[in-house]
Amino acid sequence: MDFELTKEQQMLKETVARFVDDQVIPLAPEIDVDGAFPEKNFRAMAELGLFGMSIPEAYGGSGTDLLSCVLVMEELGRGCASTANTFGAHAVLCTENIYRNGSEEQRRKYLPGLIAGEKIGAIAITEPGAGSDATSMTTRAERKGDVYILNGTKMFITNGPVADVIVAYAKTNPAAGPRGITAFILEKDFPGFSRGKSLKKMGVRGSPTGELIFDNCEVPAVNVLGEENGGIRVLMNGLDRERIVYSICPIGVAQGAFDVAFKYASERVQFGQPIIGFQMIQEMIADMATDINAGRLVAYWAVSQAERGKRVRLEASYAKLFCSQAGLRVVDRAIQILGGYGFISEFPIERMYRDIKGIEFGAGTTQIQKLIIVRELMKTRG
Ligand SMILES: Cc1cc2nc3c(=O)[nH]c(=O)nc-3n(C[C@H](O)[C@H](O)[C@H](O)COP(=O)(O)OP(=O)(O)OC[C@H]3O[C@@H](n4cnc5c(N)ncnc54)[C@H](O)[C@@H]3O)c2cc1C
Repeated sequence: MDFELTKEQQMLKETVARFVDDQVIPLAPEIDVDGAFPEKNFRAMAELGLFGMSIPEAYGGSGTDLLSCVLVMEELGRGCASTANTFGAHAVLCTENIYRNGSEEQRRKYLPGLIAGEKIGAIAITEPGAGSDATSMTTRAERKGDVYILNGTKMFITNGPVADVIVAYAKTNPAAGPRGITAFILEKDFPGFSRGKSLKKMGVRGSPTGELIFDNCEVPAVNVLGEENGGIRVLMNGLDRERIVYSICPIGVAQGAFDVAFKYASERVQFGQPIIGFQMIQEMIADMATDINAGRLVAYWAVSQAERGKRVRLEASYAKLFCSQAGLRVVDRAIQILGGYGFISEFPIERMYRDIKGIEFGAGTTQIQKLIIVRELMKTRG
């Protein structure tokens, strides 16, 4: 198994790392305090061509591979989890979804604007009463002539307060359970669409999260994504890929925390010597570095399996589970190394501590990853 990056991947990683060092890291504290959409970073990501990486050039993308997308997510996470979360919802969950499942007409209509960053994308699955059990959603869509009428409320939608284009899921045949769900491409100006409250959060505050309300919202029938009652296929066919991309984000955050903690430990003098000389600090640093590198490996390994065309339900959940937990451990130790300074907002670690918890929930919680792992193991082991 070869984990060497190609020349193109290395160049992309270096370009994004420079952008993160020069712009994303300096803006991160302000984004956190203001709780505002990271507009400047969003524009810059569009200019760098990060929004259409897995999408062919014909639609404005750059047609790169999954690892490239993972490398970008990792670097963004290192600098600012809010910016990484915004990137994920826009580029991975919305834009790629429209590419994978959209008709030629839908691709031509929506992808260029999303890839150019002229439009902001979001995905709306979760509801106030339907989280992990997403298919129990109650948002209803009924066909009336050339339109569907949607009624219901979506909850926790990343980019929801600012999105122009939303992939939203609703029940078209409630009696059919998961097989009665349909995916729609919604525009913010469709009649009957409104935004509920923006949610105040513990972390990833610069990645706006909100409620979306469909009150007799009219969606043209041509905006069905995939087929009527085929929403579960739309939801599932990119989920493993999405999980792998999201899995690396906490490792990026952890790398950012490690960099700060290592430097601090080298400079902070107590008892007449830099604290990095103390074995208990060294132990934490060794554990942190091991967690980061193990997380990176499990995510890259999942990518390599996916790139070989394998079904990666299990690998994606291994990556998501391990990286979320490893990232939390690393940031916790980073706070410990900084002592009281880790707890105050002049240093970025307290923000990272709040942020990393917020990115654990997307693409399935820790418990849901464990359920998937056991379910998959039971299938293969009989
Ligand atoms: C910052 C943020 C951004 C988000 N962005 C989006 C978005 O863009 N689009 C979107 O659609 N959703 C989004 N979500 C929603 C996210 O997908 C859900 O929070 C997640 O699926 C969990 O649902 P829930 O919060 O309702 O928790 P629940 O499903 O109610 O779970 C509560 C607890 O019970 C556990 N649990 C649930 N079922 C089981 C089980 N069978 N066995 C054991 N434990 C279980 C969970 O792991 C959790 O610990 C976002 C959430 C957050 C916090």
